Amino acid sequence: MLTDRNAIITGATSGIGRGIALKLAADGVRVMINGFGDQSDIDTLLAELETLSGKKPIYSPADMSDPAQIKTMMQQAETEMGHVDILVNNAGIQFVSPVEDFPDDKWNQIIAINLSAAFHTTKAVVGGMKSRGWGRIINLASAHSLVASPYKSAYVAAKHGIAGLTKTVALEVAEYGVTVNAVSPGYVLTPLVKAQIPATAIARGISEEDVIKDVMLANQPIKKFVEVEDVAATIAFLCSDAAKGITGSNMSVDGGWTAQ
Ligand code: NAD
Repeated sequence: MLTDRNAIITGATSGIGRGIALKLAADGVRVMINGFGDQSDIDTLLAELETLSGKKPIYSPADMSDPAQIKTMMQQAETEMGHVDILVNNAGIQFVSPVEDFPDDKWNQIIAINLSAAFHTTKAVVGGMKSRGWGRIINLASAHSLVASPYKSAYVAAKHGIAGLTKTVALEVAEYGVTVNAVSPGYVLTPLVKAQIPATAIARGISEEDVIKDVMLANQPIKKFVEVEDVAATIAFLCSDAAKGITGSNMSVDGGWTAQ
């Protein structure tokens, strides 16, 4: 149990982030969730989180592509929760296109949300974690932080970048009881993945069924999607005191993908 810990999970209104928020709340953590979505869905999630943790969760609509909004969110977290013990940088987007056609604005947006946002949130929390002598920063990377796939230049660049950011910050805070790790899922069937199936089909000139079978699961030796709960459980473990010796790592939860 992680009672008395407070966490921020970015991009927690959907998919993996939502699963992480539910798992941490079930372990007794007070959570701030962030992300976009329908307000009634967000209210339902907030009610569920409160039931699980027994603590009032907070919601921030901050856009992770905007450093000013990130700053406001981090200040809100400190003000309302007192201290941030766990930071999960999870918000992320994808765009699939051959590099010669890759739109400049999509490149900038992916780098901002999938990489730079983690820099801004980390910068805001690390001082407090060091002074209290305890902290957990977990960055959602990807199998694409270790290997590449064609047509995902911005995503693969951002995910390799976040793997580097993870290692660097881990070394800077290692003596202060603060661990910094990346978690790298393989394919998880979330809205982010569902949305890229049609674009990948067009980019590769194959059917959507073949994208799932011959592109996504072809790389994943378990031949199944990884489940949100598998990723959330790994993150909860990294937050536990049992994981205090793990820092600077990039933990694959990828069904064997990067073992190949
Ligand atoms: P998702 O699309 O289901 O959820 C993404 C979340 O990020 C949502 O809550 C969304 O509102 C939020 N978000 C998007 N843009 C935002 C912005 N500008 N500001 C704030 N929030 C924003 O995606 P997911 O599959 O759950 O992905 C979560 C993370 O896991 C991402 O970093 C992704 O790269 C990573 N990941 C996913 C997979 C996978 O197969 N699904 C594999 C490896 C890594």
